[in-house]
Amino acid sequence: MTGEYVDPWDGRLHLESAHALYLHVPFCVSKCAYCDFTSYATAEGDARMGAYASALSRLVEEAEAAGLLEGFRTAYVGGGTPSLLGPEVLSHVISTVCAGRGLSELTFEANPESLTDGLLDACVEAGATRVSIGVQSLDDDELSRLGRVHDSARAISALDAALRSGLDVSCDLMCGIPAQTGASWADTLSRVMSMGVRHVSVYPLMVEKGTRLARSVEEGEEVVPDEDEAADRMVEAERVLGEAGLRRYEVASYADAGHACIHNEAYWTGVPYLGLGTSAASMLTAEGYLRARLVCPDLPEPDPSWVRVRLSCTSDVPAVARARGLADLAFDVEGLTSREAAAEDLMLGARMMVGIVPALAYHARATIGGGPVDSTFSHLVSEGLARMTPEGGLEPTERGWLLGNEMYGELWDLAEGTIAHSAR
Ligand code: SF4
Repeated sequence: MTGEYVDPWDGRLHLESAHALYLHVPFCVSKCAYCDFTSYATAEGDARMGAYASALSRLVEEAEAAGLLEGFRTAYVGGGTPSLLGPEVLSHVISTVCAGRGLSELTFEANPESLTDGLLDACVEAGATRVSIGVQSLDDDELSRLGRVHDSARAISALDAALRSGLDVSCDLMCGIPAQTGASWADTLSRVMSMGVRHVSVYPLMVEKGTRLARSVEEGEEVVPDEDEAADRMVEAERVLGEAGLRRYEVASYADAGHACIHNEAYWTGVPYLGLGTSAASMLTAEGYLRARLVCPDLPEPDPSWVRVRLSCTSDVPAVARARGLADLAFDVEGLTSREAAAEDLMLGARMMVGIVPALAYHARATIGGGPVDSTFSHLVSEGLARMTPEGGLEPTERGWLLGNEMYGELWDLAEGTIAHSAR
């Protein structure tokens, strides 16, 4: 049979609307010692949260009316601590997003101190399907060193309530915490598994500049385990979670069959997404960006070479709360050429268990050139970071999981050119 080969990856570069929606809620009870995310310590019931959340609902409605969210299938309310909004405000945001749209998945993030039965019931009623809980550890000393508000007892009762609510439950855990031992880590993992959680994300603690933790490390008050120890913890996580039936599907994510986060998979597979709220990031195709310019005419004119545009909302919390529409928001804008977009997709694909699938590898060869792509693939194989699949794709090895940044860096180097930056 003959016929023209259609590049399935290329189709993603021309979608005119975002297929996934992210809403950022930048409020927390207090700032954790290691946190460099956009989040502000805010008292429960603070009226600014209500005004901000109402603005998010308005922006979602406008984005949909403008065709920016046509056919979107997943949504994620992240933070910060969305559960701090309380049952009434958070469920209102969720119901605005879900109303009559038949979404496949709506996740909201929660922290144990503000996750109550009332909030879970209200969110289920509003259409949420999934909750991701920031547990981090079930060791009280480790939690206190991280500056978390909750203790292990509160984390367990929050997990228990979430599991009873009928939502799909994900649990965030952290390794490489000061004073964490192999035994305390194994204990955290096995207690979470014994509760019946079917999705776990495991992150190594990073010491970010300007955080309280960085100062404590500089002053010698805290000692963070070295990279080898953190790598041992990651290997232990894979073993314990694997024994409980959870399979790694992304560098930091483990799930039982049917429990992977569909929304997060969009980020790693070149599917356009729209992010709303302070610091929220969007990734649009060039066509989607032209649509966004119809409602935000101050956005800079795209360069003809752009096939993908990344936007980051730079409006602060009061500015978002005051926004009557998308045109009132400010964005940083980065345009990517087809070569840069292909390199970005290779880098993101390598984060996943399925790796760089043959369709993506084909697309990258056609866009960047077979010579440079194959030589980078060969180098990654020779370094033991990846292996070729029989179908012509590339998948990470165990060493590739542990030295991911090395592999992602080499793949991104295929982009060569410079990304164009501008702001409005
Ligand atoms: S709960 Fe999360 S977002 Fe909030 S301060 Fe702690 S680490 Fe940062």
